[in-house]
Amino acid sequence: MNKKRIVILLLILVIPVFSLAQVTVIKAGKLIDPKEASVQENVLILIKGTRISNVGPDIAIPEDAKIIDLSDYSVLPGMFDCHTHLCLMIKAKGTLGLAFLADYLLNTTADKALQGVENARTYLESGFTTIRDVGNAGNFADVALKRAINAGKFPGPNTLVTGKIIAPMGGQHHVNSENLDYPKIEYIEADTRDEMRKGIRLNLHLGADWIKIVIDDQRYIYSAEDVRFMVDEAAKAGVKVAAHCVTEKGVRNAIEGGLASIEHGFIMSDEALQMAKDKGVWLCGTDFSKEVWDVYGSPKSYPGIVNRLKRAYQIGVKMAFGSDIVVEIPGHTRGSAALTLLDTWLDAEVPASDILRALTTNSAEMLDMAKIRGNIKPQMRADIIAVPENPLENILTLREVKFVMKDGKVYKNLQ
Ligand SMILES: [Zn+2]
Repeated sequence: MNKKRIVILLLILVIPVFSLAQVTVIKAGKLIDPKEASVQENVLILIKGTRISNVGPDIAIPEDAKIIDLSDYSVLPGMFDCHTHLCLMIKAKGTLGLAFLADYLLNTTADKALQGVENARTYLESGFTTIRDVGNAGNFADVALKRAINAGKFPGPNTLVTGKIIAPMGGQHHVNSENLDYPKIEYIEADTRDEMRKGIRLNLHLGADWIKIVIDDQRYIYSAEDVRFMVDEAAKAGVKVAAHCVTEKGVRNAIEGGLASIEHGFIMSDEALQMAKDKGVWLCGTDFSKEVWDVYGSPKSYPGIVNRLKRAYQIGVKMAFGSDIVVEIPGHTRGSAALTLLDTWLDAEVPASDILRALTTNSAEMLDMAKIRGNIKPQMRADIIAVPENPLENILTLREVKFVMKDGKVYKNLQ
């Protein structure tokens, strides 16, 4: 085929794609830029297909554009939750450990996937357009869920997953000698370097976007060298490691091992927080609200969480938003339950501008997608939400999301 024919063929293939792309214009009463903590009034956002193509007060509105009038609302990028468990819904009362095990007995991977479908929808309806799901999804239900959402079969946020959690023997459980296989339903037990490497490769092979490890839920914990080995192994495939750490020693091993994000870190000392800051390690603190602690039967834990969040903010650790809700919170969907954590951030006296950054631009940066998601700029994905008030003045307005667009598609419109 000569060059001219190739060009003509390419034009025939490409032109319909351009002409079919839906053109939408959003009239934003207030446009919020979380990174700059700035507000622009009466702005137009031009969206072509899945991306934002122009933003400004005077842009020309194409004739065939669909107009969405949000001139009475504050418009901002969709929110992120970097620590979710969409496929896990613990309903049993009692201690969390027993309820976890009951979940294995009561729910198959299929049940978990279907639970994930419901939770994903509620997340999107609450204004979360990107999530990182960090395991407890049976036999890779998270990967199936991600594929289905990304293929447009079910409504849900743009979803990253971690597959099965890698942990020392026992995972996060303490079972008896006759039930040693239970943890293997959701954990890859990895105690030797070969097992660690194999676990990472299994997750990558099956579709994990991040690797999640648990450092310190047993008496034997991963060392800094173990963490370094897994970080290096994942990095060979361009993938980062997030680590569940709940002890001071575990946190220090995680930071020294060079991992990307500390999950929880509930009791970190100032020194450990400073280490995290110095090494550029993200804290995804999953700072449970009082409502969540009440369900866990542990309301006394709340002040400690507020204190750690306050110290982390004052020390200047990079923070992304993560909720880690795995239980039913009365009166809430999973999506709205995640936003109960705003109470913790407010009680820790974090300014609204920085709470909003944690929910958007910071999380996008941690997930290596700040160039395409997390703000409303030309060439970025059209992940856009609207709320009644300016969130920089009243962050709790984020609990009243009235409009949700993900990748240029409207999922909620002024309901
Ligand atoms: Zn978690």
